[in-house]
Amino acid sequence: MNQDRAARLHSFGRAMRDKYGEPVHKIALDAGFTCPNRDGTRGIGGCTFCNNASFSPNARRRTSLDEQLEAGRRATAGVSGARKFIAYFQAYTNTYERVEVLKALYDRALDTPGVIGLSVGTRPDCVADEVLDLLAAYRRAGHEVWLELGLQSAFDETLRRVNRGHGYAEYVATLRAARELNIPVCCHLIIGLPGEDEAHYHATLNAVLEEGVDGLKLHPLHVVKHTRLALDWKRGEYAALSLFEYVRIAADLIERIPWEVLLHRITATAPRDVLLAPDWCAGKWAAINGIENELARRGSWQGRRSRALALGGRHCA
Ligand code: SF4
Repeated sequence: MNQDRAARLHSFGRAMRDKYGEPVHKIALDAGFTCPNRDGTRGIGGCTFCNNASFSPNARRRTSLDEQLEAGRRATAGVSGARKFIAYFQAYTNTYERVEVLKALYDRALDTPGVIGLSVGTRPDCVADEVLDLLAAYRRAGHEVWLELGLQSAFDETLRRVNRGHGYAEYVATLRAARELNIPVCCHLIIGLPGEDEAHYHATLNAVLEEGVDGLKLHPLHVVKHTRLALDWKRGEYAALSLFEYVRIAADLIERIPWEVLLHRITATAPRDVLLAPDWCAGKWAAINGIENELARRGSWQGRRSRALALGGRHCA
């Protein structure tokens, strides 16, 4: 990472390096979960943009957790020399099981040499109290623990439109319960959802910051094969953001995100064999470099235009 970037963005990687004195890498995992928005429990068909193969490198490869962890450790260590890792339960809904099953999976990951913690991605309406207690216990035991909640938008109308199967209220309830137990929460937001514009993105960010949050992921909406969004896109009913638009919008948002809120991610990619649009989502660097350059051009940085975290922004210890 160049120094200029480090000075402008408070990335999750930077925060972990500062905390542990060396690089800490996330290993993305598919532990074989499904999703209640696909199997009929909450909905059928899933979110209109969702094809998990597009955002989880291990999705549906069906290798064992141990194999995935070992391969992730080897690949990461080979590139960066990292010796510390966070097991990132990424694919589908990683709290959608009985707590005993979850505990066995999480324990296995934490038993892997070098793994210092967990990051658990899930839906806001699928986190039972027992699961929060389990995550809080890991945290009390000294592990690095994050709960990653997919909100995407604070607008219920948008969430209905993309068939999320939950509303903003479920996010708030789970966020508050998690932070009450001192579990840090990373909120996922999507830029470019159908029917939304810049006013929506800023209003969603306002709502999230006013509730308080510990980390954020910003994600451009990309169109991937075998989704309902792909049909809309083919009919000309949805147009993806250009790289230029995304960079400008993301920079505007990042300027308003307080420095204390860690940026876990500022773009997203999809494999070329499933990506339909936009082309630039085949790789991450065009967006990352674009955002960094835009902030540099403005002489700006994360949080430059943020209000103080006074509005409910308690930060997890
Ligand atoms: S909640 Fe997540 S895994 Fe489930 S359908 Fe939506 S994006 Fe896909």
